[in-house]
This record gives sequence, C-alpha cells and structure tokens, in this order.
Amino acid sequence: MSAKVRVRFAPSPTGPLHIGGVRTALYNYLFAKKHKGDFVLRIEDTDQNRYVDGAEDYIVESLNWCGIPYDEGPGKEGDYGPYRQSERKDIYRKYAEELLKKGQAYYAFDTAEELDAHRKDHEEKGKTFIYNWHNRMKLQNSLALSEDEVRDKLDADEHYVIRFKSPEDENLHIKDEIRGEMEIDTSTLDDKVLFKSDGMPTYHLANIVDDHLMEISHVIRGEEWLPSLALHFMLYRAFGWDAPKFAHLPLILKPQGKGKLSKRDGDKLGFPVFPLEWKDPKSGEISAGYREDGYFPEAVTNMLAFLGWNPGTEQEFFKLNELVEAFEIDRVHKGGAKFDPEKTKWFQQHY
Ligand code: GLU
Repeated sequence: MSAKVRVRFAPSPTGPLHIGGVRTALYNYLFAKKHKGDFVLRIEDTDQNRYVDGAEDYIVESLNWCGIPYDEGPGKEGDYGPYRQSERKDIYRKYAEELLKKGQAYYAFDTAEELDAHRKDHEEKGKTFIYNWHNRMKLQNSLALSEDEVRDKLDADEHYVIRFKSPEDENLHIKDEIRGEMEIDTSTLDDKVLFKSDGMPTYHLANIVDDHLMEISHVIRGEEWLPSLALHFMLYRAFGWDAPKFAHLPLILKPQGKGKLSKRDGDKLGFPVFPLEWKDPKSGEISAGYREDGYFPEAVTNMLAFLGWNPGTEQEFFKLNELVEAFEIDRVHKGGAKFDPEKTKWFQQHY
C-alpha cells in the first residue's frame, strides 16, 4: 500500500454503541494497525434532534474497554478528545458554497407540503417521486428560478435547503473492496440535501468533507451505508478530490439468520448486544453489557472479529495483536454474519 493508511470510525451519538458498531471500529483498527496507519474517531453529531445525552461518553468508554484506542484528535498531546463535527460547523458551510459556485449544488425552497403534493401526485400515477433532474425543473421552487429570484427568497429569509445536483443519466461504476464493482444508474437517485437551513450540514456533506480533510485512505463501514455510496462518489468528483477506497461490511444478523440483530433480540436471548451496560436517559431502562456480565474484552473482540471474517487458518483464539497480524480486508465476507449468542461464552471459557 503506497499512501499512508488512515481510517476512521464515525459513529453518531444517537444511543449506545451496538456490537455491530464495535465490530466496525475493530475492523478499522485492525486494518490501520496492520498497515502501520492511523485510526481516527470522529463523532458525527450534527443532527441535534437525534443527539442522546451520554452516548458519546459511552462510545469512548466502550472502545477503551475493548482495547481499541484511537490515535489522534483535537486537544493536547496525550489528552485529546475525539473529533466532533459540531465543533467544525463553519468548515462545512464553506464547502456547500463551493459547490453552489461550481453549479454542482443549488438552493431549493420547496416546503414539506409541496413535496408531499408531488409525492402524492406520483403515487396516483403509480410512480415513485424522485427529486432528480427529470422532476427538478417542474418544481417551481428549485432550479427553475432565476438568480435574482433566488436572491430575493434568501433575502426574505424563506426556508431553503442546499441540494446536490446529481447528473442526469449516467452509469456510475464504483468499486467496493469487499463487493467488487457496482453499477449505479444516476437517474434513480434523488438530489440529496447537503445543507439545512438551520445552519447544519447533513451527514453526507460533513462526512465527505471530513474524510477528505482528515486524509482518510479507506472508508470501512456497515453495509447500511451502501445506498449512500453513489452520492459520496459523486461528491468527491464534484469537489475534484480523489475518493478513498470503500469497504462495506456485512450486517450482523439475528441468530436465525433473517434480519439485523437488534436490541430486542438481545433481551429475548438474554445476551448482551452492547459492550457496556446502558441506562436509557429517558426511560431509565437498562440494557445488559458484556463488561458488567463479567466477560473479558478479548472474548468479545475475538467473537466480533469472527462475525464476518475468518483468518483462513485453524487458529481460534487471538490476542488483539495477533488479530492485527492476521487481519485481511479481502477475507471479509460479503454475506451477513449470524450472531451466535453462545460464542462469546465459549471464547470466555477457553481463554
Ligand atoms: N455517522 C454514521 C453512522 O452513524 C457514519 C457512517 C460512515 O461511517 O460513513 O454510522
């Protein structure tokens, strides 16, 4: 690998960190250390409505307990916190404006009612409403306006968002390190919102800008982000930046194999799906954690490493440094990984 490997784990503090998130952090960490690179922790907290008190501390404490330390952040040497997007707000506005200037993004003044009416109108014709190039000019509140009309609306403080202007008809070919090449037809994509009128960027803009500024070489994240890949790819192109390599990890599935493992499954199985105990700040409800249940961190990281990856050897027990040695991103599976509640117990007993 030529350029320096730099990866990041970028959770949103919307609740406790599920073991799926810990596995994403772990794979990023293993990949970074294997290639003598850096592992960055970035808290993606620009959506204030979804912010949950205590979630950030929970994330940091979970990674510490698992033995997955991050390498850098703002603050003093040896005492730095993670990066926080809420502290970097001004940066994102500047980049949204750059896209506006380049004609790659535009102000859109549609109200929720107008958008609903368009959706309904399409539904009645048996179609799905896509906010794309085809519909864009029909929406009177978007690109159909002259520059002066846009100015007037902004001066009058009308509600707006900044949307990405996705290309008309193009077949994108994007490579994923785990899934291979994917083809995406841009006419099926919405012009996604990049910046909201509350002065906050959406996840997409902030995520891309930060990955670029933080010189992230590989984006390793959960499969649920695959639908955003085309937009991210197009954003890199619109800015004229080189995109990092992408690797989308398989879902962690319920033990029966169907559907994503959830908190409710943990309750049903009587088995934690969280690294640490979590007390919900609103309901006061407590969810079990591996730490409080007496598990060794290495039993948990060992179990998680094997959920979607295998070393291709007979070795079953790995210290974290051995996992670093053994880990290969191209041995990560494409298909979902079934959670086996007994597996951590087994690792725990055999250590
Ligand atoms: N903030 C996103 C999350 O909560 C990060 C997705 C990504 O890694 O790009 O999972």
